[in-house]
Parts: sequence; structure tokens; C-alpha cells
Amino acid sequence: MGKILGIDLGTTNSCIAVIEGEEPTVIVNAEGIRTTPSMVAFTTKGERHVGIHAKRQAAVNPERTIFGIKRLIGRRASDDDIKELEESLPYRIVPSTNGDAWVKIDSETYSPQEISAIIVRKLRECAESYCSEEIKQCVVAVPAYFNDAQRQATRDACKLAGLDVLRIMNEPTLAALAFGVKKKTTGYIAVFDLGGGTFDVSILQCSEGTFKVLATSGNNHLGGNDFDTAIYTFLADKFKEENGVDISGDKMAVQRVREAAEQIKCELSSLSETQVNLPFLAIGPAGPLHLSATVTREELETLVEPLIEKLDKPCHDALEEAGLTPDDLEDVLLVGGMTRMPAVRARVEQIFGTNKVSHGVNPDEAVALGAAIQSGILGGDIQEVILLDVTPLNLGIEISGDRVSTIIERNTSIPTRASKVFTTTETNQSFVRITIVQGDSPKASECAKLGTFVLTDIPPMPAGKPRIEVQFSINADGVVSVQGIEKQTGAVKELVIQDSVGLSSQDLANAQERI
Ligand code: AMP
Repeated sequence: MGKILGIDLGTTNSCIAVIEGEEPTVIVNAEGIRTTPSMVAFTTKGERHVGIHAKRQAAVNPERTIFGIKRLIGRRASDDDIKELEESLPYRIVPSTNGDAWVKIDSETYSPQEISAIIVRKLRECAESYCSEEIKQCVVAVPAYFNDAQRQATRDACKLAGLDVLRIMNEPTLAALAFGVKKKTTGYIAVFDLGGGTFDVSILQCSEGTFKVLATSGNNHLGGNDFDTAIYTFLADKFKEENGVDISGDKMAVQRVREAAEQIKCELSSLSETQVNLPFLAIGPAGPLHLSATVTREELETLVEPLIEKLDKPCHDALEEAGLTPDDLEDVLLVGGMTRMPAVRARVEQIFGTNKVSHGVNPDEAVALGAAIQSGILGGDIQEVILLDVTPLNLGIEISGDRVSTIIERNTSIPTRASKVFTTTETNQSFVRITIVQGDSPKASECAKLGTFVLTDIPPMPAGKPRIEVQFSINADGVVSVQGIEKQTGAVKELVIQDSVGLSSQDLANAQERI
């Protein structure tokens, strides 16, 4: 068996690792750096840049530089938060033929899977050059809170990049694995994972090589980008107040201020104040205008307080669902670049108690290292480690009144399956249409719609007589499948899901050709 690559495909940065002997090792990219910016840029000359090269030219080519694509993968263009996100992005989001959120650069449209595949391909090439062998398989990490559509789309991205996905694993679980295997931990641990675009918290029980996730919670729409936006808005408003010029229509200016906002945020993790200087940001009636300001850590913390507050609930929910209190925890692992922010750390200590926070993992690398360990388990290099995960969201079907009938409860151990018997409401009804939803809201419209399937060829019978059992399965990757059984005849029917999200085989073929 060849090498299996462990991939942390992050919103902001990506990191890869492999097992060497029994040790997980982070692979340094072609530029000599341990993480690669998750960015792709297209130039007017038809060139394509990936990683740090894309990042370096972002301010002068904002409309053609794609960052944060993970926030779009497996999502609908019509989702409220995607529409909101589009307003703050320099590049365009357009609906694909099935309504998925794609991006448009000049006259070309690209799926988030294709953009992610361009990044993964670069990572694969770095790994191949490091290992001096072709790499065909991977374990890829996703936020625990990713739904089925987002998981399937991530798998398609790896497939397009020439990698067969052996497992899709939850990021906090992998971080716990990296930490637990190294420290030989026993007891309960919490993983607090705040990255560029998502927030996950998981509670695990570790004992003698067994890692069992008890509960997971989070927010798919909360991450470092939101902190950057808060600082961006503060700076843009200040500039407008001082100069009477609104920069929001000037994409290049917006990108420059956004980059400065992220830099300010990172600098204020170690400094108590910092300066921003952006000369020639705009032109006013009297000539060029420059942005120059000092931002203190205190100001930053006031600006981001509403975001910090959003961290509490998922942590309390996860603890409650695991049936634990903070006192039961041995360690709290901090994962994701945003956990370097002192205000975030302080909040973690407030929630879980002081002296719990562990500094034993590198927040940027833990997930990739965990993915490499999982690769080692699959490849037989590492033995005696067992990992048991849960499904993060309720899986159910839409019922009348915009409600959800839950079939598999969140935090159920995976793999799992459950079935439900359906019947007809009218005499001689020959089909039943069922919409599958996944989410944590009791309202169907607030959950992700995974697709609709139709049970057809129901024999003519009085209303309520047919018994059609539908089996819902979630595999160890968190991926959903459904199968229908007509109980009268015992016929098993593969259910074809219509209106499903994700790439069609034609989309995949087109992307493959372009990549
Ligand atoms: P990740 O998705 O784990 O790569 O996390 C990336 C996020 O962490 C981005 O929003 C970064 O701006 C943020 N980040 C990285 N370093 C720091 C730092 N020193 N202080 C605050 N945020 C940081």
C-alpha cells in the first residue's frame, strides 16, 4: 500500500502530513512553509496561482482571487448567509444549474469543488515530491459540523485532484487523536476548534487507545473571517467619517483594508496596540487619501465581543449532551488559528475553567497530524487505536407545517442506521415524495435540504395500507444514504435522490478537463 496523505483543507490555510515509521510528520510545501494559504488566483494573462503566490497578488487582483472557498462548498447560492457573505467578497458568487453556490471569474464559472481541487492538487504534488512517490489516497478532515452535502463535496474535490478519499474525518476528533496518541491521555477532553470559517467543539472520552466522541456542537458560519469583517467595517467607517469617501464600491481598496484587518487581528494577539497605514487608498476632491490608524487590543475586543459571545452556547450544549460538567474534563485542546487571540482564550477559560487549557498541540497542525495518524491506522502502520465518532446534526424528513420528523438524532455514534415506515394518504396513491433534511433546527426551512426522493410503483391500495420502509444510513464518514423496501412485496428499491446538491457527472467531467 502506498502512502496515504492526511489533509486539513482549511478555510484560510491548509496543512498536510504523512506517517513516517509510526510518527506523523507535517510536510513542508514548495515554498518551505508548513501551511499553505487556501487561495487560488486567475490572472488576465490566463495564469493560475495557488497558495502564497495567490495571496501575494490578492490586493491587485481582488476579483480573480478566491479565498475562503470552504465557506461555499456544498452550500446553496440562495442561503441567507451566503447572500450576506457575497456582499463582503470581492469575487462573484453565482448559482449553478442546480442552485449550488459557485464562483464566477470573468466569463467562467467554477464550482467550490474545482477550486478546492486546485488547492488539493498542489498539496498532493508537494507530498509526492517530499515522499518521492505517487500518492493516490488520502484521509481528509472536515469541520465536525459539516452536513452531508458539504462532506460529499469535499470528497469530490479530492477526487478531482486525483486522490481517492479513504476516510472523511471530523477536524476536532483528529486533533484529539493527535494529542491523545502523543500524550497517552485517559479521561474526558474537550476540543475547541475555531478556524477561519467554522467553529466546532467536541467532547471525547479517551482510554487506552480508544477515542470516543460523546458530543459535538458548533457553528458552521462563525470563524476568523467574521472577526476580520468586524475590523474591516470599523476601519472603513472611520475612513468614511474622516474623509467622506465610501470605499465599499472599490474592490481593490476593500481587499487592501481586509488584508490589513486580518493583520491587525493577528498582531493584537501579541501586542497591545498596532498601526495600520494604507497610502493612496482612495482619491478625494483634494487628491489622494491615506488610511492611517492605531488600533488597540481593547478596541478590538470591544468590536468582536458579539462574536466572542457566540462561542458559549455550543460549548455548553456539547457538555450537556455529553452529560459532563467542566470539572470532569482533563484537558481542553485549542485548535485553529483563531485560538491564538487572547480574548478567545479568556473565553475558553471562562467556559471550561482555568488550568484546563492544554498547550500540547500546535493549533495549525494538529488536524493534519491527526489525519496522518488515521492514515497510519488504515495503512496498518499504527495499531491499537480505535476511534468512534458521532453524527453532528439531526437527520430527518420534512413534514407538513415546515417541521422535521427526526430519524437519526444528532450525537448518535456512527456508523448508524434507522428506518421509518411510510404510507399513503390517498386511495390508490402510486407515489410518495420525501424530502430529506439535516440540521439542528425543528423548522425544515432552516435545515439543509439534502434532496428529495420519490417512492414510485406503489400497488393500488386503500389510503394508509401500503407499508414502505425507508432505511437511512450514515457511514463512518458521516455520509448519508437511503434505501426503500416495499414491505408487501419485499422489493428493495434504490432511491434516486432528485434535486440533490453537489456536482453532476457532467460537472465532474468538465472540471476534470479544466484542472
Ligand atoms: P485556520 O482555519 O485554523 O487556519 O485558522 C485561520 C484563522 O486564524 C484566520 O482567520 C487567521 O486570521 C486566524 N489567525 C491566525 N493566526 C492568528 C493570531 N496570531 N491571532 C489571531 N488570529 C489568528
